[in-house]
Amino acid sequence: MRLVLVGPPGAGKGTQAAVLSAELNIPHISSGDLFRANIDGGTQLGKQAKNYLDAGELVPDEITNEMVRQRLAEPDAAEGFLLDGFPRTTPQADVLAGILAENSMELTAVLEFDASEEELVKRLLERGRSDDTEEIIRNRLGVYRSETAPLLDYYRDKAVTINAVGPVEEITERALEALRTRT
Ligand code: AMP
Repeated sequence: MRLVLVGPPGAGKGTQAAVLSAELNIPHISSGDLFRANIDGGTQLGKQAKNYLDAGELVPDEITNEMVRQRLAEPDAAEGFLLDGFPRTTPQADVLAGILAENSMELTAVLEFDASEEELVKRLLERGRSDDTEEIIRNRLGVYRSETAPLLDYYRDKAVTINAVGPVEEITERALEALRTRT
């Protein structure tokens, strides 16, 4: 199973990614987590990425694509994976398509986690992380709308929309059900 998860900040995509990865027994590959691990570890890549993360901006593609390419080349990703946060732009989706084609692989499905903007802002403000000031939240939602939402058209043959409002277990069940009907 090779999945891509798409959703605006606050949709609970990371939570669902962790649960689905355990349920489906495939590695959870989160580009945000990879960046944060590099920042915490003080690597060169972390130093290059830090300012972008702090501002809620996208890290440039040269850095991001190479990081994900290397992660996907690790042995645990050979039998399947769940990508969370990558691709986030159509150029990144083209890069992923290239990586998959080189390995004669195909995506199984793209799951879109959907919630209203009002609900997202409310959840993110409640979460109260230091990178969740209202200004940064609005910036991240704007970046999602302009850069990431076009992926749903790019992946129109693979994308399934999951209603991301409700209890965590119910949302997981919706995602698993969508996968059952697709696979
Ligand atoms: P996330 O944990 O997915 O919300 O990602 C946190 C931050 O990491 C984002 O706001 C971006 O700065 C950066 N990031 C994560 N994934 C990507 C990506 N695919 N392309 C560019 N920047 C990314």
